[in-house]
Amino acid sequence: MTRTAVVGAGWAGLAAAVAATEAGQHVTVFEAARTLGGRARTLMLDTPTGPLAVDNGQHILIGAYTATLGLMARLGAPPETVLHALPLALPFANGTGLRTPTWAARWPAPLDALAAIATTPGWGWREKLSLTKASLGWQFGGFHCDPQLTVAQLCVRLPTQVFQDLIEPLCVSALNTAAHQASAQVFLRVLKDALFGAGHGPWNGATLLLPRVPLGQLLPEPAQRWLQARGAQVHTGRRVGTLLASASGWLVDGEPFDRVLLATPPGASARLLEPLAQHFPAAAAWTAQAQALRFEAIATVYALAQRPLPQGAAMLALRHGPGAPAQFVFDKAALGGPKDLLAFVVSASGNDRERLQADVLTQAQALGLGPLNVLQTVVEKRATFACTPQLQRPPSHMGNGLWAVADFVAGPYPATLEGAVRCGLAAGARSD
Ligand SMILES: Cc1cc2nc3c(=O)[nH]c(=O)nc-3n(C[C@H](O)[C@H](O)[C@H](O)COP(=O)(O)OP(=O)(O)OC[C@H]3O[C@@H](n4cnc5c(N)ncnc54)[C@H](O)[C@@H]3O)c2cc1C
Repeated sequence: MTRTAVVGAGWAGLAAAVAATEAGQHVTVFEAARTLGGRARTLMLDTPTGPLAVDNGQHILIGAYTATLGLMARLGAPPETVLHALPLALPFANGTGLRTPTWAARWPAPLDALAAIATTPGWGWREKLSLTKASLGWQFGGFHCDPQLTVAQLCVRLPTQVFQDLIEPLCVSALNTAAHQASAQVFLRVLKDALFGAGHGPWNGATLLLPRVPLGQLLPEPAQRWLQARGAQVHTGRRVGTLLASASGWLVDGEPFDRVLLATPPGASARLLEPLAQHFPAAAAWTAQAQALRFEAIATVYALAQRPLPQGAAMLALRHGPGAPAQFVFDKAALGGPKDLLAFVVSASGNDRERLQADVLTQAQALGLGPLNVLQTVVEKRATFACTPQLQRPPSHMGNGLWAVADFVAGPYPATLEGAVRCGLAAGARSD
């Protein structure tokens, strides 16, 4: 039986472990942390009323995440029960912003999106027409563009209001990279899958899916139970320190394996691969590409509010700019979470926690929520790679049974759960 080591139990590593187990391999998972899930995990907050399970950062899934949603279903976490589905919408507190009308919510894609554009409050015919024209142009072009373009360059002819109300928030939430730096080609691929691709089950590709339970319960914990029930070993608190080539395969901290799936962040993988570089050119090339990646942070400010969000919304887009860093706010109570808890999300954020927190509190005053009591600000400094034009991402397959599985390896998607899961499933199912 093929012995497969999976190093790292984020969503990519867990997906790889499941696929390798399904393919009949004997799988051992090594995870450095005590909690599974990596950058999409449950976090315990200390609050005056006791510990509170939240996420390391608010995550949004969409209906087009067919690999992730299909995997969750197979592992016993039915997406319909653990996720809150909303038709495509980016509503602002003042009632403006794109939202799919209720009567069009079940229309097939892309008619639902066209209905949303046609009825967007606050947009005139010029805004609606130019976005429709641009969308059709992207579709007729097969969602391909000059790979050197940024999103801002791609959208240069769109009216400012469309850019500010839709393109900028969509770009930063999907690519975690500001529109003037983000890759237009990757952005178009996300639009293609969201607006024209099939969704999971009853959902359209663009359906927004917000977790109703802590992230650990969506996939990491069901995956651990599923793997252990099938004889796979899952070690937490086990940071792998060495990877060596042997006559018959690989030694992971001295333990022999036929295949090794490195599901660790770029820096950790590079550290494991560096000693191999002299005799294994693929590892040297891989390490050089991984070390050249740049990263963007995401900050989440968790705060207790005295009033719910305007319009009883589960999620609102926020006007952001200098001194107003948050792009979105989520009402965790409206998502089945703790009462009065809000999560403000600052994508592509800086790392100065105090400054950011103070700015978010000032920004939140406009929402009329009463005084906010900040519980914690979580800053994930290396949340995602910066998704810039013509980025060279390292490959998944290095040869000799050695693979990298992660959201940052070469692929069409930005750093997302779906990119991580797809990569993990593909490499896990292989036997080479
Ligand atoms: C705040 C935040 C918000 C996000 N929002 C969204 C969103 O809304 N939608 C979306 O699709 N994506 C979102 N993402 C991106 C998404 O979380 C990632 O793309 C995904 O989780 C990456 O998974 P991964 O398995 O590739 O890597 P990771 O999750 O980084 O997993 C790597 C694992 O390797 C472990 N490890 C490291 N070194 C070792 C070692 N030596 N030995 C053993 N284990 C080791 C780590 O502990 C970790 O568990 C967000 C990310 C963040 C941080």
